[in-house]
Amino acid sequence: MSVPVKNLSLIERLLQASVILACLVILVSDFSEDSNAQGCNGRPPLTPPLGYETAWYQYKNIAIKIFDRTNAQPTSPEEFNALDAAIRDWNNIKITGCSNVTFGSASRAGRAYVSSEDRIPDDTVFVIRTTERSGQYSGVYAGTHMRAGLVYLHSDYDLNTPDPHFRIDNLPKHEIGHSFGVANGTNSAPRP
Ligand SMILES: [Zn+2]
Repeated sequence: MSVPVKNLSLIERLLQASVILACLVILVSDFSEDSNAQGCNGRPPLTPPLGYETAWYQYKNIAIKIFDRTNAQPTSPEEFNALDAAIRDWNNIKITGCSNVTFGSASRAGRAYVSSEDRIPDDTVFVIRTTERSGQYSGVYAGTHMRAGLVYLHSDYDLNTPDPHFRIDNLPKHEIGHSFGVANGTNSAPRP
């Protein structure tokens, strides 16, 4: 299914707008400050319907590590840069009292991900290429907060994927939005 780029940018703007709106709403709700999530006053902006109960702590610096499809298929520089830029685009949203999380420049793992070997450090996002899922964000929780996250992207997706929802310069932007507790949009376009 082909979706015009124009529509995608609207979707992304809505996603970003929903973060801002949620932050503002939560700001005036005067939550206590003892919470641990990244949203305003320590609360994640949105929780339902996906059940994201937590998100990043405020003001965290998050490292990004990008794994290759296989050990024999290094991620091209173009794709690496696109993944990096898509995730760090969220750094452009900084609102007083809200998350103010900063994603650092991505680093290369230099190989494929091995779930049994790669314990993810705190304050880190692993970008993992997979043949088992389309696109997914999976938070790694420690007690009451999210300490790290996994962004899964299907190995088939690249910069030439016709549907921009799944193109590699867009999909990670969507998935990392879930790390702020943002749920999928409700319009008719497919939602990884
Ligand atoms: Zn999603």
